[in-house]
Amino acid sequence: MTVFEDLAESRRQLGEAVAAARRIVFFTGAGMSTESGIPDFRSPGGYWSTRKPIMFDDFCTSREARQEDWRRRYDLADQLAATEPNAGHFEIARMVACGRASHVITQNIDGLHQRAGTPPEKVIELHGNATYATCLSCGLHHGLDDLRPEFEATGEPPVCRYCGGLVKAAVVSFGQAMPSGPMAAAHEASLAADLFVVLGSSLVVYPAAGFPLLARRNGATLVIVNREATPLDAEADLVLEGEIGEVLRGISAG
Ligand code: NAD
Repeated sequence: MTVFEDLAESRRQLGEAVAAARRIVFFTGAGMSTESGIPDFRSPGGYWSTRKPIMFDDFCTSREARQEDWRRRYDLADQLAATEPNAGHFEIARMVACGRASHVITQNIDGLHQRAGTPPEKVIELHGNATYATCLSCGLHHGLDDLRPEFEATGEPPVCRYCGGLVKAAVVSFGQAMPSGPMAAAHEASLAADLFVVLGSSLVVYPAAGFPLLARRNGATLVIVNREATPLDAEADLVLEGEIGEVLRGISAG
């Protein structure tokens, strides 16, 4: 593992790794979006320091839990509507557009990679997406805006317009199974990567944090960019302790 105190030197090293790579995979966590103003998960003042997670089983069995979940969804939707992708999201989108990066594997649910121009089929969402909802019984897609007036008028958690099943924001809740399609796609992309760049993840949430290890053990160069140390730093070829926007600035031009 190499950790440089000097950001200029570490950016130079990252530039070399990027220039040598044929198939880059970016792996992003909540830290990717803090520069857009969305708090991360674990830092002081972050989302979970003020709210207890709603478990999937509670959502399915308790009307009160569903009501609270939907109130939180609309709080988050309002926050996301007032948010823009940041410079890091745009650098990544350019790396995908020019064919240097094959995929973005993200733990984020904010849809900001897609809004920055990364094609949806290149974004592998491990924890789902908070910008729409699906029926837990039949899978039908529901727009949050379509459901909002009735929820706000009646306080009743939405049900599917087709089958009457429970409708839930399309995120993976605590206690809910990981989505098999994105997990398989992330596995495949990690094995095919020759450079795997982690951006803004504490790397403590599994199974997501298994993908950097998978890529590294399959021969990819592993780079970790984070404000603070992570448990996988010792496995990495290069660790950059800095702000993502500053570290990635101009990387797609090199
Ligand atoms: P985390 O909060 O555990 O870790 C984020 C890491 O990023 C921290 O170590 C922090 O120091 C670092 N960081 C924050 N801003 C940074 C910056 N500008 N530059 C460099 N590093 C920065 O997040 P996680 O590992 O993604 O796990 C949390 C879970 O919470 C994820 O599964 C995700 O689904 C969910 N989440 C998503 C969002 C979102 O969609 N934007 C926001 C909060 C939480």
